[in-house]
Amino acid sequence: MRTRTATNAALVFTLVAGAVLFAPDRAHAAGPVTSGTGWKINAPRITHIDTKPWTIAFHDTASRSKLTPYLKNTAAELSSRLGVTFTVTTRIVPITRGECVTGHTISYRYMSKPDPAKPTSSFTGSCGNTQHAADGAYVYINSDYWRTNSGITEPTRMNVIWHESGHAVGLGHPNTCPRDKTGKKPLMCASGANGYNDLRTRRYTTWEATGLRRLVTNRAYAAPALPKPISTVIGVLEHP
Ligand SMILES: [Zn+2]
Repeated sequence: MRTRTATNAALVFTLVAGAVLFAPDRAHAAGPVTSGTGWKINAPRITHIDTKPWTIAFHDTASRSKLTPYLKNTAAELSSRLGVTFTVTTRIVPITRGECVTGHTISYRYMSKPDPAKPTSSFTGSCGNTQHAADGAYVYINSDYWRTNSGITEPTRMNVIWHESGHAVGLGHPNTCPRDKTGKKPLMCASGANGYNDLRTRRYTTWEATGLRRLVTNRAYAAPALPKPISTVIGVLEHP
């Protein structure tokens, strides 16, 4: 397992907004399509997912015990939608905020208030490789959501895990957040006033499915090689 210090780690919070500026909708044959109604890919750092299998690992044994049952389902859905194998392992891969996790590995940490400045948040840092393929991520899941007095339900906790895992493979927050006829928004829109409580899908919606499909079809477009892996985005949840 390799980790590398991201050169722009200090910018991770601003890159969410930056991605909006630098990810125009390129809905033509000349290049990757990186956004649409209700979905977005963290371009230009990540434009696609390649065919190599992925490993899901954990920061420590406590994180592994708590999150493995959830992530087996998440991994199965990602494998199905991306046509790439995601395997939940017992591996321990310690993570540090701001340091890229690479090697097609996602490492999860379950801890209270992972961002002390935003105590109700969970977040993810995802990394693209030099070819702009998603290549790894660290995910911090806020254990406070499991406290009995948190007011947070199990469906909402599942939405958090699915949402952060979407970031881990290269999805960002969409520019547009439509609602379906039942009033649900895209899972990757979960932020702001109602946060994840808005979405009780517990699975990716058709909007994320479109984004995930694009991560695959965008393989067809070669992008200029980057000099080094780059940390792309941290998805932050502000919980009510
Ligand atoms: Zn997010």
